Amino acid sequence: MRIVFIGPPGAGKGTQCKRLTERYGIPHLSTGEMLRAVDRDSALGRLIASYINVGRLAPDYLVMRIVKKRLLDPDCVPGCLFDGFPRTVAQAELLDEHLRDQQQRLTCVIHLNADPAMLVQRMLRRAELENRIDDTEQTIAQRLEVFEQQTRPVLDHYHAQSLVRTVDAALEPAQVFDQLCAILDSLA
Ligand code: AMP
Repeated sequence: MRIVFIGPPGAGKGTQCKRLTERYGIPHLSTGEMLRAVDRDSALGRLIASYINVGRLAPDYLVMRIVKKRLLDPDCVPGCLFDGFPRTVAQAELLDEHLRDQQQRLTCVIHLNADPAMLVQRMLRRAELENRIDDTEQTIAQRLEVFEQQTRPVLDHYHAQSLVRTVDAALEPAQVFDQLCAILDSLA
């Protein structure tokens, strides 16, 4: 199964994907985690940080390079959960192309839908727990804006392929998880 998770920052993509990976054994590809894992003392790490720290998206070519490399790992061949990727229509088109080349396809796209005001509160709480440099009030506002401008159109891209299933991310995490499991079970 190859599933894309799309939702604004704070909608719970990472938390839910981690739990789904535990239950279904499908690898979790978080581009945010992959980008944060690049050594901050390297030139590439500094370049990436210059985007992440202000709540802007890293360049498509860079994200694609990291994702394509990871997709070649044998554990990703049967499938994976894409968390936070694709975040632009260009990334979605490049992913379509890559999957076509590999004679693979997406199984579905899950939209974790939530109200921005609730997300701000959630992310401020997460900032205290995880000490993330991009969870300040200013960068949160910027990331929500980036979602609306650059990532929401990705949903239209996948709606046109009839791939999107929407889940209410305002529910309790356990309820969201149950709904996601029901979707994954129906796809198996
Ligand atoms: P996340 O952990 O998914 O909230 O991502 C944190 C930050 O990493 C984002 O605000 C972006 O700066 C960067 N990032 C993560 N995924 C992508 C992506 N697919 N394209 C560009 N930038 C990304």
